[in-house]
Amino acid sequence: MSSAAPSPTAQSLAVVLVSPKTPGNIGAAARAMLNMGASDLRIVAPRCDYLDSQAVAMAVHAGDLLRSAKIYPTLREALADRDLSVGTSARIRADLPAPRHPAQVRGLVREAAAPALVFGPEETGLINSDLEQCQVTVRIPTGDYASLNLAQAVLLVCYEFLQGQDDVPEHSRQTATREDMEAMYGHLQDTMHLIGYTDAVRGRHTMRLWRAMLDRALMSSAESRMFRGLLRQVKWKVEQGSGKASTEIRIESEE
Ligand code: SAH
Repeated sequence: MSSAAPSPTAQSLAVVLVSPKTPGNIGAAARAMLNMGASDLRIVAPRCDYLDSQAVAMAVHAGDLLRSAKIYPTLREALADRDLSVGTSARIRADLPAPRHPAQVRGLVREAAAPALVFGPEETGLINSDLEQCQVTVRIPTGDYASLNLAQAVLLVCYEFLQGQDDVPEHSRQTATREDMEAMYGHLQDTMHLIGYTDAVRGRHTMRLWRAMLDRALMSSAESRMFRGLLRQVKWKVEQGSGKASTEIRIESEE
């Protein structure tokens, strides 16, 4: 038996449970995290008492980890300080990019400074608006019955990223936080509406395509601010009145 000190990725990795319903699953998920060396448990809008006796019983030696869980009203808030969020799904969804095998995104996770793994509610899994906040989605390959128990999914996905063998350097990438990126996407969406690039009907689909493209860029925080500088300049120009040949020039300074 080997038990090394937690790797840098294990120390920085957050496991996010979205709206779990069963205390026993939350406790078992905490245990799985401790087994794999992770410790940052985040729960979004729990539908039960996460410190219920069933949860504590299933956590066994992970009671402290369970008690130190942080509770958030929304997924967006739970991900705000993360620089990578990885969704998990049992299903392949026709309208979203195909989920990948966890081994294919191991490098991405290990290079991140503050990654998050996001797990869905027991009955429904993550909804599309949750998965849209994740840059990549992974699926554990299974037999025909694809829906794993929540805590077992936590165990397997954490294993892939934390104990699976790999020589990818850890923490070698510095990218913008999800808070920076979400603010930038909000700004981009407002600008698209302002200039009539998209409308309320097509907006969601349009943003999904743009998010996928810009998330692939793994922007730094400074680059996300530079992009927003361009958007501010567009708004300013539009407000000057379109078609007018303006001699006045106001250039947004690049940070
Ligand atoms: N019925 C739901 C499954 C919910 S299981 C569905 O079809 O999507 C609860 C959670 O466990 C899922 O949201 C996901 O986070 C995780 N999970 C279950 N099976 C998985 C699998 N095969 N691969 C990756 N994650 C899985």
